[in-house]
Amino acid sequence: MSGGEKNENHEDVKKKPTKGEKRRGRSPSKREPIVDIEDIMFSIDKVQTMRSSLLDWYDLSHRDLPWRRLDKGQPETRGYGVWVSEIMLQQTRVQTVVEYYKRWMHRWPTVQHLSRASLEEVNEMWAGLGYYRRARFLLEGAKLIVKEGGEFPKTVPDLRKIPGIGEYTAGAIASIAFDEVVPVVDGNVIRVIARLKAISGNPKDSKLVKQVWKAAAQLVDPSRPGDFNQALMELGATLCTPTSPSCSTCPVFDHCEALSISKDDSSVLVTDYPAKGIKTKQRHDYSAVCVVEMLENRGTSELKQCSRFLLVKRPDEGLLAGLWEFPSVLLNGEADSSTRRESINSLLSKSFGLEPKKNFEIVIREDVGDFVHVFSHIRLKIYVEHLVLRLKGEGSKLFRKQEKKSISWKCVDNKVMSSMGLTSSVRKVYDMVEKFEAEMISPSRAVATKKQRATSTNLSCRSC
Ligand code: SF4
Repeated sequence: MSGGEKNENHEDVKKKPTKGEKRRGRSPSKREPIVDIEDIMFSIDKVQTMRSSLLDWYDLSHRDLPWRRLDKGQPETRGYGVWVSEIMLQQTRVQTVVEYYKRWMHRWPTVQHLSRASLEEVNEMWAGLGYYRRARFLLEGAKLIVKEGGEFPKTVPDLRKIPGIGEYTAGAIASIAFDEVVPVVDGNVIRVIARLKAISGNPKDSKLVKQVWKAAAQLVDPSRPGDFNQALMELGATLCTPTSPSCSTCPVFDHCEALSISKDDSSVLVTDYPAKGIKTKQRHDYSAVCVVEMLENRGTSELKQCSRFLLVKRPDEGLLAGLWEFPSVLLNGEADSSTRRESINSLLSKSFGLEPKKNFEIVIREDVGDFVHVFSHIRLKIYVEHLVLRLKGEGSKLFRKQEKKSISWKCVDNKVMSSMGLTSSVRKVYDMVEKFEAEMISPSRAVATKKQRATSTNLSCRSC
């Protein structure tokens, strides 16, 4: 959401074409770069009419979202709700956020409630939303606010002291919940203002972003700063979209220089403004994931068997910190099945003392498939394998002993697996294995597999 991020690509910012350029029909990308963008500011009379046009349009047309229904008479609760929604909305679509937001606010309706939660509970609630650092920042922020007396910060400088709150989020909370007359600039606002002023520069260029903040500060309505900021962002999200703006229904079309230029010159489109951002090149990583399912005999009669899945907790720092996942190893690149199995065997031996033949018997070992999971800058190809083991008597004891000692891994049954908050990639791996067992194995193999399990013990108990 924040448009204030730094960008190393200092592409020159270009200004609207002169009359001569328009006559020559040069597209913005072909014009000479012009670095002076001081004229991005609006004239006083335009500011007044744009404020009232945007607010009128917003009052009539804004989307009904749960965080917009927060009681204006309770600014602290409103501040907390706006904070949660803004953090959730970073890098995530509105439609996705709505249900997460409702569940979160139902469970932790105030900052005090949230401050008493654990990281694991917060991560579970966040599961599937991605960018888990955001959830941790919310928790850390709530703890900090409560530690310092419990009063929700109301101004941009105070909000900036909270972990994970940058200039954009601080401006959004301060203006929407506490009526502070400050601007907000996200990607939508940059696009709208770049089009209103026909600026064709790189929208991530720091000079352009700085100027957009200035223009947004000039535009913000002093009597309704929160509504005005939301109106500008709403315009970018719903009408002035990246590829198909609805200029005919735009409340500020008569102030839009990009539209005016494109009407004069059919070779210029409003979508030429601003320039397309330069995408960061993604890194390609590869990993092998092993869903280890353990059939464990219990009792001397060996009449009862439990199946449990091995989960490993990620380190408390870094990507997906503190979350549970299946054992996995990063590979050096594309790898064949035997290379992947070697890597997995080494991991199981070193980390869990699991040695085939010595303390377990392999019941099933199958490659289930692979898929690509995209993080912000990483394209991770994940190979999934299903390994069903039957622990031998001594191995079973050894495994339980280690489990007590360590807090970094645990074994859970399939009931717990189904109800746990898992990241979307872990959930996908689990679903693949479930599907593989249920549908992908041919009927004859399925019968064979059932028989294998049945002969392992007399009674299978996957949910104990
Ligand atoms: S007229 Fe079109 S391009 Fe200009 S601000 Fe409105 S929607 Fe965007």
